Amino acid sequence: MKAATLHRFGAPLELREWPDPKVHGEETLVRVLGAGVCHTDLHIIDGRFPTLRLPRVLGHEIAGQAEGIGEVLVYASWGCRACALCQRGEEQLCPRATEPGWVRDGGYAEYVVVPSRRYLLPLGGLDPVRAAPLADAGLTPYRAVRRIRRWLPPGSTAIVIGAGGLGQFAVQYLKLLTDARVIAVDPSEAKRRRAQELGADETASPGDQLPPARAVLDFVGSDETLTLAADVVERTGILVQIGEGIGCLPFGFGLVPHEVHITNSVWGSLAELASVLGHANRGELDWHVDTLGLDQVNEALDRLRRGEVAGRLVLVP
Ligand code: ZN
Ligand code: ZN
Repeated sequence: MKAATLHRFGAPLELREWPDPKVHGEETLVRVLGAGVCHTDLHIIDGRFPTLRLPRVLGHEIAGQAEGIGEVLVYASWGCRACALCQRGEEQLCPRATEPGWVRDGGYAEYVVVPSRRYLLPLGGLDPVRAAPLADAGLTPYRAVRRIRRWLPPGSTAIVIGAGGLGQFAVQYLKLLTDARVIAVDPSEAKRRRAQELGADETASPGDQLPPARAVLDFVGSDETLTLAADVVERTGILVQIGEGIGCLPFGFGLVPHEVHITNSVWGSLAELASVLGHANRGELDWHVDTLGLDQVNEALDRLRRGEVAGRLVLVP
């Protein structure tokens, strides 16, 4: 089959013939119909996870055709199913998780092997190319917003830093699931406009004066954005880092507000992905998808790196 593979950190992906995958036991073969391009792919290529074994087929936002099931979205954080976190249904936190596009071969290919049918969620009529980004860009902010709901009663304020692919979903979940006033912060005027279309009550540039907030979601995770988040979050509020920028937040008395909660949020559970699909199927979510062929994978990654992707790019094999 055709696959886009990473052979060396820092090098472009190579489109080449790759062995046709074979399935064993519980595994299911999925013919890839769309694979979303994620910032994490750039981090992988840049060598942020140096223990990863190469060569590797990247791609963890996958929708496709599964034999005997039909069109599916692939839940992509495959836990060990034995540890306490997996038993609680939090496979995305499993220390032994094997994710496609990291630990196993992923969706930048014609086919992907999924370890169990339980990770395949029927699309219910959603277009697979459009649905692919729900597996991460749609899921990760959903979990983050669910976790901060109790900080956001009527009259409260939530700030979303970074109104790109994930931030745009976060704005919608905040409006759907909480009564908070939502402020989206982004240097790009186009992304601020998009956030407003999606329901943000206000938008701001990073240098603008911001009101104090009960909850701040940082979808960038740089030194600057974490500092901004700690500046605007209220005492006893919550600051959540989701973006994997290589930022650092100094912690200590006087450095962060009194009794503030500081956490990160990582991907989402299988049950949360089912909820995301439910929202999407009910037409409650809006997101932009641009498509490119699998053979344009490096162009797609370059566009993402240059910040030229308004919503999500999806590769079509
Ligand atoms: Zn991702
Ligand atoms: Zn586990």
